[in-house]
Amino acid sequence: MPFHPLDVARPHRPLFSYFALSAVLLLVPFSVTGQEVASPAEAAAARETLLVRFKTDDVERESIGEVVQKYRDGSLLFLTPDGQLWTLLEDQILSREPSEAVMQPLTSEEIYSQFREQLAPGFQVYKTKHFVIVYNTTGAYANWVGELFERLYRGFYNYWERHHRMQLEEPRFPLVAVVFRDKDSYVQFAEKEVGDSARAMIGYYNMKSNRMVMYDLTGSNGQAGGPATNIRMINQRLSQPQWERTVATIVHEAVHQIAYNSGLQVRLADNPRWLSEGLAMYFESPDFGSRTGWSMGKINYHNLRKFIQFLPRRPADSITTLISSDARLMQSRLAADAYPESWALTYFLMKTKKQEYSAYLRELAEMPPLGETTEKERVALFQSHFGQDLQQLDLDFLRYMSKLR
Ligand SMILES: [Zn+2]
Repeated sequence: MPFHPLDVARPHRPLFSYFALSAVLLLVPFSVTGQEVASPAEAAAARETLLVRFKTDDVERESIGEVVQKYRDGSLLFLTPDGQLWTLLEDQILSREPSEAVMQPLTSEEIYSQFREQLAPGFQVYKTKHFVIVYNTTGAYANWVGELFERLYRGFYNYWERHHRMQLEEPRFPLVAVVFRDKDSYVQFAEKEVGDSARAMIGYYNMKSNRMVMYDLTGSNGQAGGPATNIRMINQRLSQPQWERTVATIVHEAVHQIAYNSGLQVRLADNPRWLSEGLAMYFESPDFGSRTGWSMGKINYHNLRKFIQFLPRRPADSITTLISSDARLMQSRLAADAYPESWALTYFLMKTKKQEYSAYLRELAEMPPLGETTEKERVALFQSHFGQDLQQLDLDFLRYMSKLR
């Protein structure tokens, strides 16, 4: 895994870190947990609304929006009605004035017409209950994607309710996925957002735009035998074992999108990468079967195999390096081991320390966006939920994983 799309979704951090850091330290005493905080909806209601004219990448825009964070140097973290988060520096803000209006999220139709201006002619829209699929592939493929995501969505919400007693929030914005008919047009679009790595990925979720971008896997250069004309055909093709990992990637990105729109995670908060990726991998296995439920939280054999291969050279302080910094997941040389280990640790914690895991997630979601924690603070926060003795935890972890078959 050379480079992960969430990297690009991160704003340019050094610009914000110096003031954000002190805010985190003051606001989050790590020993205190379980405090009642405002829900995302309540937080939104309390936010200041502004009408802002701003310029990014040589494009000028004017939009009403909510101030998610305001920084001393005049820069803003600004949420617009299409669900996009903008990190606006002082010199990118051409004007700003208070607005009495309450920001209304765009409807699916409005999102579609916004896109029509950005994309080449020929794109259509397919709406499901929670998703807006903007596509120029076959209607059948758009349908298939929409149904896959809706089933994932239901399964995901049910899972947290049933296993963790967590009632996730309805997304505030429609969940947008742009599906291109072929890889070339996808790459052309994606390169502008994620640079050279676009070609190496079959899809991604962009945390700032809040959108997924992907292409038709069955399409002309999607390798799965040319455009399929109906859902059954697509299911038949993509449920072949050789497609499991490919479809898992799409599901993985959708899990990121759902996690960040359900209040489970907060976009641009200081989410440890092992946690976000572990979560996405925990839920990524496709389920082509039943329409009623998606069986989640099964062993991810792909990652288990890789984790077992890693064990002989796994350093004694592996948990600490994994939880204290994102580095291992961001360097391609190390990521090949760090991803499976993130899955394994997530699996172990979800199965054996369910309540602690939920509480840990909740505390992370309460941290302000663009905050930064030091490696020490990350470890301390982890320990405050899972215990001080990381060596003992590691023993329990390895013992548990060795019993999996
Ligand atoms: Zn991911």
